[in-house]
Amino acid sequence: MTKKMLQFVGLEKETPLKRDTKKRRQDFNEIYNEFISGKAKEQSSRCSQCGIPFCQIHCPLSNNIPDWLKLTAEGRLQEAYEVSQSTNNMPEVCGRICPQDRLCEGNCVIEQSGHGTVTIGSVEKYITDTAWEKGWVKPLKIKRELKQSVGIIGAGPAGLACAEELRKSGYQVTIYDRYDRPGGLLIYGIPNFKLEKFVVERRTKLLKDGGIKFVQNFEVGKDKTLYELRKEHEAILIATGVYKAREIDIPGQSLQNIFPAMEFLTASNRKGLGDKVELFDDGTLNAEGKNVVVIGGGDTAMDCVRTSIRQKAKSVKCLYRRDRENMPGSAREVGNAIEEGVEFVWLSSPKNFIGVNKKVTAVEVNKMKLGTPDSSGRRRPEIESGSEYKIPADLVIKSLGFDPENIPKLFNAEELAISQWGTIKIDLKSMQTNLDGIFAAGDIVRGASLVVWAIRDGRDAAVQIEKYLRLKINKKKSEEAA
Ligand SMILES: Cc1cc2nc3c(=O)[nH]c(=O)nc-3n(C[C@H](O)[C@H](O)[C@H](O)COP(=O)(O)OP(=O)(O)OC[C@H]3O[C@@H](n4cnc5c(N)ncnc54)[C@H](O)[C@@H]3O)c2cc1C
Ligand code: SF4
Repeated sequence: MTKKMLQFVGLEKETPLKRDTKKRRQDFNEIYNEFISGKAKEQSSRCSQCGIPFCQIHCPLSNNIPDWLKLTAEGRLQEAYEVSQSTNNMPEVCGRICPQDRLCEGNCVIEQSGHGTVTIGSVEKYITDTAWEKGWVKPLKIKRELKQSVGIIGAGPAGLACAEELRKSGYQVTIYDRYDRPGGLLIYGIPNFKLEKFVVERRTKLLKDGGIKFVQNFEVGKDKTLYELRKEHEAILIATGVYKAREIDIPGQSLQNIFPAMEFLTASNRKGLGDKVELFDDGTLNAEGKNVVVIGGGDTAMDCVRTSIRQKAKSVKCLYRRDRENMPGSAREVGNAIEEGVEFVWLSSPKNFIGVNKKVTAVEVNKMKLGTPDSSGRRRPEIESGSEYKIPADLVIKSLGFDPENIPKLFNAEELAISQWGTIKIDLKSMQTNLDGIFAAGDIVRGASLVVWAIRDGRDAAVQIEKYLRLKINKKKSEEAA
């Protein structure tokens, strides 16, 4: 901490007594910004500018990390911002929520040598937050408007990134989304303590100001079929994400107060956004004062346990059938959850839900042991016979992952090709589906993944859509000339 900051919090003698709270807040912001700016510079100057930038290689967007770290260390923040935003449509989002320990930071040479990584994500967040504050982030200015239009289904990171890239080139872009707000999982999935909602809202506003049209509360399949939409645009991108929650088939499923993760997280996010949420307001989806049991070991499960802690749950337990080393979630997130008071019950799997008066009161659990590796190479969990015991629970949250919905059926487009996992099949080079002019990107192609990959896919899809549209125009021109 700087001397000024220590003074402010009263740990240094000369603390000036300031009773004016507005002034105090201003003072705090000033000192805090100074502190963060110092930290960003300090971290950036730790970058060794090594010959092979492993951080950049392991960033899905191939962000030019060494360059923007160097510029930040030299105090050339606006240039750092320009470099950073040239490869990433939402650097402040990635800076906040990328699992950096598995991507850029995990591969930092300084980290590998045991001296602690350069905190790349925090610096990326700092650069873009500063750019917003200073007014360097501006809506797109289109040099040449083009007539061709593209319809994008899904306003998550894949759809938004694709829309921005196509709009930059002058195309008319309309995004259709079944939710009332744009952002996809950025707005209703990821909790506010990881990604503040104003950060998402100011991004989508920027895109609107740049001429991208948003049609909310519009569900493709219900409000229009895929083919109807296709007729209105020269190309379509499907970026609908994956939303079908995986189920656990055990007795007691139908008891009250057992919810899928997205229901719990959406209620909490909507509440934070100021919406009226009946099931939260009447206490059903509010963890306050309850014994909460979350089932699952991925990042969504971590979001549920950490949200429950923030809602002042009486106890929060996370049940996972493998051990800590084999958890799919980010190690950093698990560490955060433990620090906040979450109890992990590793090597445990639910056997049945027990209830009184139709409401869940406990989860009966089997202890597990790890056996031989399965086809994925991970050791298979096996039940230890006679090891059952009960954990009290007033609220159970199921977080076992997501599968794609049946898109061909939902969209009234049975011909749309899908893989054995239900994800949309695309040609990996052209990103086109088996239907002419219909492309797909993000989780609906990859399966549940990461925001940074969705952005990458959205950007790649924009390049391919543009190629397709140009070819179409050239073909038309040569036909007219013939
Ligand atoms: C709880 C949770 C926490 C996560 N935390 C992280 C994290 O910390 N870091 C990270 O990198 N990743 C995280 N992820 C993963 C990340 O959010 C996704 O990989 C990413 O959002 C996928 O982007 P997308 O654009 O493909 O889809 P989505 O973000 O899911 O957006 C799809 C959009 O399509 C719309 N849509 C769907 N069907 C239709 C239809 N028929 N008509 C119209 N619109 C439709 C939906 O309403 C939605 O807005 C998390 C995921 C979850 C569930
Ligand atoms: S986008 Fe993600 S992986 Fe890439 S530099 Fe930023 S935080 Fe690291």
